[in-house]
Amino acid sequence: MAEYNLKQYLKKLGVSKVGFADVGGIANNFSDLPNGISLVLKIPKKTIGYIIDENYEQYWRSVHQIMDELTKISFKGEEYIKILGYNALALTMNRNECDMKKLLSILPYKTIATKSGLGWIGRSALFVTSQYGSAVVLGAILTDMPLEFDKPVTDSMCNECVNCQDACPVDAINSTKWNNKLNRNDIIDIKACSEYVIDLYKKGLGCSKCMSECKFTLDYLNR
Ligand code: SF4
Ligand code: SF4
Repeated sequence: MAEYNLKQYLKKLGVSKVGFADVGGIANNFSDLPNGISLVLKIPKKTIGYIIDENYEQYWRSVHQIMDELTKISFKGEEYIKILGYNALALTMNRNECDMKKLLSILPYKTIATKSGLGWIGRSALFVTSQYGSAVVLGAILTDMPLEFDKPVTDSMCNECVNCQDACPVDAINSTKWNNKLNRNDIIDIKACSEYVIDLYKKGLGCSKCMSECKFTLDYLNR
């Protein structure tokens, strides 16, 4: 019952999707909090429109606001669980540092999200949901509160789509379809992507073509 209320509470705060996963044993840093709560916040259609208009200044401003909103929700969730008598940690980016060599967080949000059954990893290596495509930001809360885990997603639903591969200006995306046995390097040349994106970011630009051109993002935009 408490976990049902927790999902309802987080949805009331504004998350678009929420799921529960067993993430014990993935990251030693968080071994005392083995249960993961994945939080997905959709990126509004208007914000995706800024990419299409190549207005990256406005796009980044909007994305940072959405991420701040998700951080606030994570902290409220942490507080809610603690009031129930359990330990909890809002897994904010400051607490889940990114290894800049590997470009991977200690406990990747995408891992928690797929294990929570909320979506899959696209050919683009982005997290994809059937409702909003890859137009989402991800957060998480870790806890020792007992949770009924959702069914993990273990395979891609990209099917024959190759939109992102075709849209990528640096050919970073190959045609391999994700499954949970593969590593990120099996599906994307992350070095080629990040060098290109960082260079553009420094100029106040960006590249999110794999997100804006994703078949499921386009379905979301056209609904
Ligand atoms: S962000 Fe741009 S460069 Fe990187 S994979 Fe997506 S389309 Fe390619
Ligand atoms: S564009 Fe197509 S192949 Fe790429 S992530 Fe989206 S659904 Fe998958």
